[in-house]
Amino acid sequence: MSLRIGHGYDIHRTVPGRKLVLGGVTFAADFGLDGHSDADALTHAICDALLGAAALPDIGHFFPNTDPAYKNADSQILLQKVVAALLERGWAPANIDATLVAEKPKIAPRLAEMKAVLAKSTGLPVEAVGLKATTNEGSDDIGRGLAIAAHAVALIQKI
Ligand SMILES: [Zn+2]
Repeated sequence: MSLRIGHGYDIHRTVPGRKLVLGGVTFAADFGLDGHSDADALTHAICDALLGAAALPDIGHFFPNTDPAYKNADSQILLQKVVAALLERGWAPANIDATLVAEKPKIAPRLAEMKAVLAKSTGLPVEAVGLKATTNEGSDDIGRGLAIAAHAVALIQKI
């Protein structure tokens, strides 16, 4: 069996007046993330991990932030397109694992919901979607609530 591993990282600044979407789940918060699409940092990190595993360019290449088609885009659609791009090249996701770094809001109560959405978008069983949330213990811009970041790894297999 041929396997490849990939890594992804993303960070977006928090801003008032935008919807907060993480892992395809909307959170009740008085801020959202700044960006061209829905700015779902977690989903973007997973996209980059999958693309990286297939040695493809990052999501900025596939979905440029200058393209009006992706303004306020649902990042689950982007993730579905990334998986389709992999399948076209003979690769399928095997598992993904990600860590969300956010000082607020409380992520843990919604992890199961986020896993279910990400499983659906990637075509993976929910058991193959790892997801954790942590804070930066009050340090740096993430710790001060000025940004939310995500790290992800993905394994893909030849089909
Ligand atoms: Zn992003």
